[in-house]
Amino acid sequence: MAAKRDYYEVLGVDRNASPEEIKKAYRRLARQYHPDMNPGNKKEAEEKFKEVQEAYDVLSDPEKRARYDQFGHSGETGPGGFGGFGDFADLGRDFGGLGDLFDMFFGGFGGGRRSGPQKGADLQLELDLDFVEAAFGTEKDVEVSREEVCAACGGSGADPGTRPVTCPACHGTGQIRLTQATPLGRMETIRTCNQCRGTGRLISTPCATCGGRGRVRRGRKIHVRIPAGVDTGWQLRMSGEGEPGIRGGPPGDLYISIHVRPHPLFRREGYDLFCEVPVSFVQAALGDEIEVPTLEGPAKIRLAEGTQGGSVFRLRGKGIPRLRGHGRGDLHVIVQVRTPTDLTERQKELLREFARLEEQKPAGREKGFFGRVKDAFM
Ligand SMILES: [Zn+2]
Ligand SMILES: [Zn+2]
Repeated sequence: MAAKRDYYEVLGVDRNASPEEIKKAYRRLARQYHPDMNPGNKKEAEEKFKEVQEAYDVLSDPEKRARYDQFGHSGETGPGGFGGFGDFADLGRDFGGLGDLFDMFFGGFGGGRRSGPQKGADLQLELDLDFVEAAFGTEKDVEVSREEVCAACGGSGADPGTRPVTCPACHGTGQIRLTQATPLGRMETIRTCNQCRGTGRLISTPCATCGGRGRVRRGRKIHVRIPAGVDTGWQLRMSGEGEPGIRGGPPGDLYISIHVRPHPLFRREGYDLFCEVPVSFVQAALGDEIEVPTLEGPAKIRLAEGTQGGSVFRLRGKGIPRLRGHGRGDLHVIVQVRTPTDLTERQKELLREFARLEEQKPAGREKGFFGRVKDAFM
């Protein structure tokens, strides 16, 4: 299941943001991520744009927003999701005694409908890692802000010492049935009870700690073990570290998106590393032993006489460790031959001398580059 970001987070607004603030944030972000405004990365912008639109769709509608506040993303899916009243009507029949039992514990934050246990919402977090941390794995403490069952009231939403009472208007069902005689016959309509806002419970004295919600948002430190070999765009799932479940359901999961900071020397492709090492043209021509960087520190490689620029040396097993310990990728060292600058008069003289000697060399079997160019145009 794809992780979904919190809608408030998507719009960058506070949980108690006013409709005006939400609208303003939406307008700003919609402009920012409009695909036409982002010709460079249209696809990513489009995704963001959709995400913003979806968040606004829910948070701009008071009813959808209330449901989202109570149920998180899980309020959107399945029967009785953000679909509307039709769903409530169907669900009403499934509850008898069981519903009441759940209400004793969860009445405080029961929402616009009654239903069985629900998995808590998933949470999403971005984590920046250093290049070497990602290569060899690391452990981090991350901070997540999540809803937790209010300790003061045990989640009931009622002031400690008091208990929620069954709503007298709907007798605890959360719904009002109306039977009307119409020209087409008797019609039964069902609407959410507005006395208890569908919870079936009334709280006379709300818990001071959570304001009657039965939950509080708090920051939690979570210890994360990051395996060796992860890369940008990877996602770690921490089972059960999301928002708490509803009516006894299991908690959601925490998804951690990895972002690896670039390295000044290495470029990564899969599990292989690439690194460009400059050498002087004298080293390339005469051969030399040169020092090259690896993830573990400097190593030596032997340049043969007459090494060409762009030559690649492959250091096996010096790349990134593969996930779950299946060996390592390779390190590819690419030789860059530097053309000297700031030559002294004496050096220039020697190079001219060198050039004269080159011209006097008997032509080899192979045609020179310019010979081949000539052939190509004949
Ligand atoms: Zn409370
Ligand atoms: Zn009621």
